[in-house]
Amino acid sequence: MAPNRFVYDFDEPSEGGRDLLGGKGIGLAEMTQLGVPVPAGFTIATDACRAYTESGGQLPDGLEAEVERHLTSLEEKSGKRFGDPGDPLLVSVRSGAAVSMPGMMDTILNLGLNDDAARGLAERTGNPRFANDSHRRLIQMYGEVVDGVDGHLFEEALSKLKDERGAALDVDLSAEDMAGLVETFKGIYESETGSGFPQDAREQLSRSVRAVFDSWDNPRAQVYRRAHHIPDDLGTAVNVVQMVFGNKGEQSGTGVAFTRDPSTGEPGLYGEFLADAQGEDVVAGIRTPEPLERMEAGMPDAFEQLTATMRRLEEHYRDVQDIEFTVEDGSLYLLQTRSAKRTAAAALKSAVDMAAEDLISREDAVARIDPGQLDQLLHPMIDPSASVEVVAQGLNASPGAASGKIVLDADTAVERGKSGDSVILVRWETTPDDIHGMIAAQGILTAHGGMTSHAAVVARGMGKPCVAGCEALTVDTVARTAALDGHQLAEGDVITIDGGTGRVMLGPVELVPPQINEDFETILGWADDMRRLKVRANADTPEDAAKAREFGAQGIGLCRTEHMFMAEDRLPVVREMIMASSEDERRRALDKLLPHQQADFEGIFEAMAGLPVTIRLLDPPLHEFLPPLEEATDEHMRERIRALREANPMLGTRGCRLGLMWPEIYEMQVRAIVRAALAVQERTGDAPLVEIMHPLVGFGEELRRLRVMTIAAADEEGELEYLVGTMIELPRACVRADEIAEHADFFSFGTNDLTQTALGFSRDDAEGKFLTRYLEDGVLERNPFETIDQGGVGDLMRIAVERGRSVKDIKMGICGEHGGEPKSVAFCHELGLEYVSCSPYRVPLARLAAAQAALKESGIEAVASGG
Ligand code: ADP
Ligand code: MG
Ligand code: MG
Repeated sequence: MAPNRFVYDFDEPSEGGRDLLGGKGIGLAEMTQLGVPVPAGFTIATDACRAYTESGGQLPDGLEAEVERHLTSLEEKSGKRFGDPGDPLLVSVRSGAAVSMPGMMDTILNLGLNDDAARGLAERTGNPRFANDSHRRLIQMYGEVVDGVDGHLFEEALSKLKDERGAALDVDLSAEDMAGLVETFKGIYESETGSGFPQDAREQLSRSVRAVFDSWDNPRAQVYRRAHHIPDDLGTAVNVVQMVFGNKGEQSGTGVAFTRDPSTGEPGLYGEFLADAQGEDVVAGIRTPEPLERMEAGMPDAFEQLTATMRRLEEHYRDVQDIEFTVEDGSLYLLQTRSAKRTAAAALKSAVDMAAEDLISREDAVARIDPGQLDQLLHPMIDPSASVEVVAQGLNASPGAASGKIVLDADTAVERGKSGDSVILVRWETTPDDIHGMIAAQGILTAHGGMTSHAAVVARGMGKPCVAGCEALTVDTVARTAALDGHQLAEGDVITIDGGTGRVMLGPVELVPPQINEDFETILGWADDMRRLKVRANADTPEDAAKAREFGAQGIGLCRTEHMFMAEDRLPVVREMIMASSEDERRRALDKLLPHQQADFEGIFEAMAGLPVTIRLLDPPLHEFLPPLEEATDEHMRERIRALREANPMLGTRGCRLGLMWPEIYEMQVRAIVRAALAVQERTGDAPLVEIMHPLVGFGEELRRLRVMTIAAADEEGELEYLVGTMIELPRACVRADEIAEHADFFSFGTNDLTQTALGFSRDDAEGKFLTRYLEDGVLERNPFETIDQGGVGDLMRIAVERGRSVKDIKMGICGEHGGEPKSVAFCHELGLEYVSCSPYRVPLARLAAAQAALKESGIEAVASGG
């Protein structure tokens, strides 16, 4: 077999695509091949990183020779030699995985410089300041990334020098200052590592490549992967890119830009630019960057070329692009392009606009919205009628509002978040090391940094409110206090931030659900035309039913009746019923409950006129309606509580078992349902589409008896068409779905109980306890209560579908939280269910996910472009 090939020049076509070259590498190769100006270079593929990791840190055979060959060809292209003391070729070594993990891994710039080469570069360019500036940057980045030197040591030295010189900014330092800084940095490097800064360019390169491979497994990258469900074994590619220099003076600079506004989706240039600066300076918040438009005055040609290139890239990729560029002495170079992370609002607007511009089809537009991201739009906003006192204003970095206790570091955010507090992470500026705190926080507030700062980019991706660059904020992490425009705050004090406007307020503020806009309706309207699965909602009240309808629900898949028993005015009657010592007495209590239930059902039927409503008969064990033993009012009650007590209520006398033990309860419910339906029919002229559902059935015989009882009670009330069905939520019900189907008009998968019973997990005992640990340790990749465990629970469902349908063509759906989770929705589509049912707020998401599942069948993969 031919030896593996690991290295590809940017101008060489390759087969492996993004998986092999990583996102950055494939972008650089595609831009090069499109004729966009990109510095020359090559990519070491991800499989080299995998081989390196698997072998415990050995570079794979032949890799070094291959790199050497590509380096030689880079030298030929550039006319410079790597390690040449007179006119050195300098390169960057950049990480870049297949999946975007912004800022999680490392990059080193200006590689190939040493003492001689820095002198050569200074002479060659006639710009010693630039040469020394590049040199000190190399020593710092290399020291940090390759040798783990603490970056603060370098930064403190820089600050100290600036103080001594009375310089406000790095650019105010002279060439001599920079030369001095190089010496200081070399000293720091040597005292921290025990050896001098490596002078050999090839040694620098090979150690940097290893360090980038290693950065795949640094702790923050691991946390990020876990949070985003990115597999640990993808590995990163390494890009070796000829340096272009933005730090050569006023005709040079560096910037980032989006082809449309990533917050709103509005078309038009959007970005930031820093003159006389190198790459990292823009994101690191060293100086506050200028808006991109300012570049036009200073370097009109480069600006015009930039706008033309951005248009071209957007047309090529047919998606909003996020680019990095550098201008060296007036010439433009692109250093990165990727599909832009964007807010949900921006994702919708840009997709609708691009479809209108004929850049993409409606199917593409629907396929590229991340259903999970729609949630953002359904997030709370500040009540417009609330009077708020704004104490400070920052940048509106990521929309949505949040109130919470301030925490000043990421670990505290996690701690307090775990104890159930809503927290706002308040930092001078976030770094990738804060990622776990950002995940735990409801919102993020920073004193420093722009719209493309770390906090802003990461928060937008997570869909969390963020106010960045709030200058009136000061943070003292030692005293653990913060101040907002002079107001002193201690950790734990409550503030509110509005990431949509950048406002910061003291104390909590009333929040309201946001409005759904036109783009949202447009995309969901298109999605509705594309999907096969119907989407229903779980709703127990007329209000929830109305809300669900507003969100596009096509019926109710689960109306729980226990809440109607819990209502304050009914609980005493319910208790009377439970306490009854004879059937007669029980029936008398039930007769008092019936009109209440009937009224509830009437409201729900009216709200859902013309659409099916599945009503589940009482499910929880009766002791849930009694007080705890200590609060019992008399001996009789204590006795009853003891009698009903169960060692394991989840598996006890509940669901249809209850209905078989005390048939008069279900009978009353059936009568209430039928009377309500007939009353609504009388009032409106339309008969509600009633589906009566029996919970927790495991045996055909259970359902047979319940069906007989249901029909008998219903028939006594009058003429009504209705269905009688069952939940499928026990493993036995799945494997004997044939036996159960004999007596059922429909099945509704109750995947919460099915997950509990199939996995032997009691949800309450699992979440927050061993399951959390399982997820942290990677024993399980996902929480099976959030995403259907396809291998186990999913297989049981498949069996139930097959065996149920082998008896008759039976209507099937799913109710419960999984019905609103995109991956589970896709699975239900594959299974050929008729509908999914979820909470009203998740209905839009399920509509979109259902459309994407259908599109996938016709070969259009969902590619979430935001998030
Ligand atoms: P990240 O993934 O953190 O953005 P990058 O590899 O993109 O890291 O590089 C960090 C910064 O350095 C970016 O601003 C990038 O544009 C800049 N940069 C990388 N390579 C070069 C190069 N060859 N010439 C000039 N700037 C570069
Ligand atoms: Mg980058
Ligand atoms: Mg259940």
